[in-house]
Amino acid sequence: MLVSAKEMLTNAKAGHYAVGAFNLNNMEWTKAVLKAAQEENAPVILQTSEGAGKYMCGFKTVADMVNDIMDTMKITVPVALHLDHGTYDGCYKCIEAGYSSIMFDGSALPIEENIAKTKELVAVCAEKGMSLEAEVGAIGGEEDGVVGMGECADPDECKKIADLGVTMLAAGIGNIHGVYPANWPGLRFDVLEAIKEKVGDMPLVLHGGSGIPDEMVKKAITLGVSKVNVNTECQLAFAKATREYVEAGKDQQGKGFDPRKLLAPGTQAITDMVKYKIEVFGSNGKA
Ligand SMILES: [Zn+2]
Repeated sequence: MLVSAKEMLTNAKAGHYAVGAFNLNNMEWTKAVLKAAQEENAPVILQTSEGAGKYMCGFKTVADMVNDIMDTMKITVPVALHLDHGTYDGCYKCIEAGYSSIMFDGSALPIEENIAKTKELVAVCAEKGMSLEAEVGAIGGEEDGVVGMGECADPDECKKIADLGVTMLAAGIGNIHGVYPANWPGLRFDVLEAIKEKVGDMPLVLHGGSGIPDEMVKKAITLGVSKVNVNTECQLAFAKATREYVEAGKDQQGKGFDPRKLLAPGTQAITDMVKYKIEVFGSNGKA
């Protein structure tokens, strides 16, 4: 059964580790991430963007699939199903579809409107026993071919949103989505400390966790990050293993073209990557 992310993040914050949040793209991804979490005995957050939800035929399909796969695989570790970067409408669709956690990304809105909508969703989530992630300040990344260097949230705005009673807060500290440019200056630990100072025990979320050096991620966890999002690294691992299989001509040997064989190395590569990340975040054995 899916659970809210609240308890796992409260435990992570108190235990000085972070829970990995891995983006799903299809059934193979779902099986691969759940297998890794179970083998590591780690709490885990499965998340979908709105685009991935659409790709998988809607949020209800995703929620039903995740629940059924968890039953079949006899998953016993805590699992939350979360909407990543949700719009206001997307949040309500996921609440209805059976997600256990949502992110409302009002970072593009004027701060007053972000506050009003976040406040409304805090009340809805409290009633449903769901967790809610809010975002302050945009998190950079590739948009229309332009790669930003990572923006930083205003600690006072972070406090305003944290005080509304959200479960967790995403705040830009120089992190970006996608592949990091070679000249990226690194995470802004000074900004992270200033935010932590203002928001106290609120679990913080590090977006764009793919490609940040492990040591920087570990340091961010010691400074209050309790959820780390990973997306691109799993995609790269899947693509690399699949390419190697095809380039080795294995799809042309015997029944190597069978999708259950063709997709197996990529799926295993996702499991390996997720297990590696769980160990870096320190959530192994914490289920
Ligand atoms: Zn993000």
